[in-house]
Amino acid sequence: MSASTTSRKPRCQTLAVRVGPLTIGGRSPVSVQSMTKTRTDDVKATVRQIRRLERAGCELVRMAVPDAAAAAALPEIRERVALPLIADIHFDHRLALTAIKAGFDKVRINPGNIGATWKIREIIKAAAGSGAAIRVGVNAGSIDKSILRRFGRPSVPAMVAGMAHCLEPFEQAGFKALVLSAKTTDARETIAVYRELSRRWSYPLHLGLTEAGPPFEGAIRSAAALSVLLLAGIGDTIRISLTGDPAQEIEAGYELLGALDIRRRGPLVYSCPTCGRTGIDVIGLTRRVKQALRAHPEPLKVAVMGCVVNGPGEAREADFGIAGGASRGIVFAHGRVVKTCGEGQLVEALVREISKERTK
Ligand code: SF4
Repeated sequence: MSASTTSRKPRCQTLAVRVGPLTIGGRSPVSVQSMTKTRTDDVKATVRQIRRLERAGCELVRMAVPDAAAAAALPEIRERVALPLIADIHFDHRLALTAIKAGFDKVRINPGNIGATWKIREIIKAAAGSGAAIRVGVNAGSIDKSILRRFGRPSVPAMVAGMAHCLEPFEQAGFKALVLSAKTTDARETIAVYRELSRRWSYPLHLGLTEAGPPFEGAIRSAAALSVLLLAGIGDTIRISLTGDPAQEIEAGYELLGALDIRRRGPLVYSCPTCGRTGIDVIGLTRRVKQALRAHPEPLKVAVMGCVVNGPGEAREADFGIAGGASRGIVFAHGRVVKTCGEGQLVEALVREISKERTK
């Protein structure tokens, strides 16, 4: 690391919380999660989407449980899926009890929406009895009314006070299998509120923005907030919420962790922006390289460059790459040219070079 590189602080030490076979917090890697977007009572579609998410690298998956029909589907979903499962419950605490009984590994509740403390206590008792974890979420829109009156608006201090209020029954019961979240749509507010949560509590933190937006905007907004926190050592599990395919949330999550050198899964593909020197179809090649390496397990850095002038030189950090000339190009490995071929053969030649190294 050069002297001018922004440093990354060690992860803040949080409690280790078991969520089925996975651990969130403690010394475990930052986990990447998503949420299904199917109707939960459509078991077939939900299971199919969970399997796609699993193939994309999703480590725990949450699903909405809005009513009794969704709750009735949970045992069958549990039976058909090995991935740690989280039930997302609002308003009706009995749905949380059903999810825990069905063997879900975690429930996400917003105590402000659940209501009376006895209902929260029932959820705590059921979770403690079955070893399930609970995520306590405080959103700007559901802060306790008495706290809102005190602070005037759903500000950062109001959210932190709201969290303290929500945690009271858990602390009275000595229940520690908690993950906390306090989501807003505003990147700077999210940074401020999570800094405060991290300072005050040692429970692991679930990072994310709420209603982050469509894939392009949502990924940028999420990265703006989450990168600051992750570089400060804050955050134990992440979800990049996007209005789109949930598998993209997983891809975005790993891209973010990879860009910060926190965690890598599969290749990181870099490509030049193209310019007047570009001799090959960089956009098409980049898409094909990503596709060809989709199932590749190693965390390689692969570059796709539009010209030889700046090819291997600019991409010297890359393990492998291709750089174009006029309808031809080179394949390079660790800064050395290993092959020259026509544009149509470049991706195949690159994949061959990568495979050769794996079999060495
Ligand atoms: S690598 Fe070459 S083609 Fe790509 S942006 Fe740089 S100079 Fe232009």
